[in-house]
Amino acid sequence: MAKVMIRPATYENVRQAIDKAFEIFPISLAGKKVLLKPNVLRISEAKESIVTNPAVLRAVVDKVESMGPSAIVVGDNPGIFSYGSNEKSFATTGLMEAAKGYYQNIGNDSQKVAFKPEFMSEVSLSQAVLDADIIISLPKFKTHGLTVMTGAIKNSYGFLPGAQKAMLHREAGNPERFHELIVDIFRLRIPDFFIVDAIVGMEGNGPASPDLREIGLILASDNAVAVDAVIATMMGCEPGRLRFLQKAKEAGLGDFDINRIEIIGELKKLPGFKLPPLGGEANMSNEGLQTLIKGRTLLRPQTDPDLCNSCGKCVEQCPVSALSMCDNFPQVKADTCIVCFCCQEICPQKAITLK
Ligand code: SF4
Ligand code: SF4
Repeated sequence: MAKVMIRPATYENVRQAIDKAFEIFPISLAGKKVLLKPNVLRISEAKESIVTNPAVLRAVVDKVESMGPSAIVVGDNPGIFSYGSNEKSFATTGLMEAAKGYYQNIGNDSQKVAFKPEFMSEVSLSQAVLDADIIISLPKFKTHGLTVMTGAIKNSYGFLPGAQKAMLHREAGNPERFHELIVDIFRLRIPDFFIVDAIVGMEGNGPASPDLREIGLILASDNAVAVDAVIATMMGCEPGRLRFLQKAKEAGLGDFDINRIEIIGELKKLPGFKLPPLGGEANMSNEGLQTLIKGRTLLRPQTDPDLCNSCGKCVEQCPVSALSMCDNFPQVKADTCIVCFCCQEICPQKAITLK
C-alpha cells in the first residue's frame, strides 16, 4: 500500500518535516547523481507562491548534501511565459540562492526520446533528467485551470525544455487529452520521491492565481498517484474524477483510492477551497489561450548579419541540431527547433533574437 506523509510545517521550521520525510521514505543517495526539480512556472517572487518556496528547496538541498551524493543538480524548465528565462526565473524567486551553487540550466542540453505519435513521435527531454540516478520532485500545492490541480504528476511536465510544452498543449487540443498527455510525459522518467510544498498553497484560477491559501503542511510520498490523490481530496475534489489520475491508475502507476493509501498524519478537506472555474475543465479552444500558445510556438531564431562573426557557437549549442552554418550564417530548421532560447543565450555577439 502506498504511503503519504502529511506533516505540519512553516517555512521557518520546514527542516523538521523534510527530515521526517526522509526518515519515513528511506532512500540511499550515497554516490548517486541527484536531480532536484522544483516547480518554477515562471519569473515571479517567492511571496506570490507560484513556485516551490526557496525555504523548502534549501532544506532539501541541505539534507541531500548530507547524504553523500556524487552530484546534485537543481533545475527546471519554466513554462510558457518564461521559457528561455531559466536563470532569471530562479534568481527572482530566490531559488537560485537556495540551490547553493547546484543550479544548472537543464534546458541547455537535451536528448530526443520516442513519444506517443498521437501527440508527437518524439520529444526532447532534458539530459539532466536522463542522467540522474535519483530524481526528487518538489511540486507546489496549486490549482490548475486545465488539470484542476498541479502536483506530483504535472510537475514532470517541466522535464521538457523550450516550447515543447506549448506545442504539446496545442497538439492535445482538449482537456481530456491534455490530462493523458501529462501522464505520458511523467512516464518518460518517473521521479523517485515527491516532497510537496503545501505550506502556502494556491486556490482559485491557478497555476498563477493571486488566491493564496495558508495550509501549513509538507506532504511526501514515493508514489505520485497517491500524493496527488491526497492533494485532490484536500482541495475537495474526488480524485477519481480527474482523468490524469484515472489514466495513471490504468497504467499501473498507483491507486487514487484514499482508502487504499496509508496516511501518515491527518488528512482533512480544506473548508471552502476554491477550485478553478469550470472545475478545471477549462476550454482549450478559448481564443485567448490559443493565441498565446500559437504565438509562443511560432518563435524562431533570427541572426543579425551585422553582429554575427560566424563563430558557430550557436550551432554547437543547439540541443536538437536545428542550426547549421550556411554561407557563414546560422540557418534554422523551423520544424526541428524547440524554441529553447539556448542559441540566443550562448551567442557572444548578441546576434540572435527569437521572433
Ligand atoms: S553564436 Fe552568434 S556570432 Fe556565433 S555564429 Fe551564432 S549567431 Fe553568429
Ligand atoms: S535553434 Fe536555437 S532556439 Fe531553436 S532549438 Fe536550437 S538552440 Fe533552441
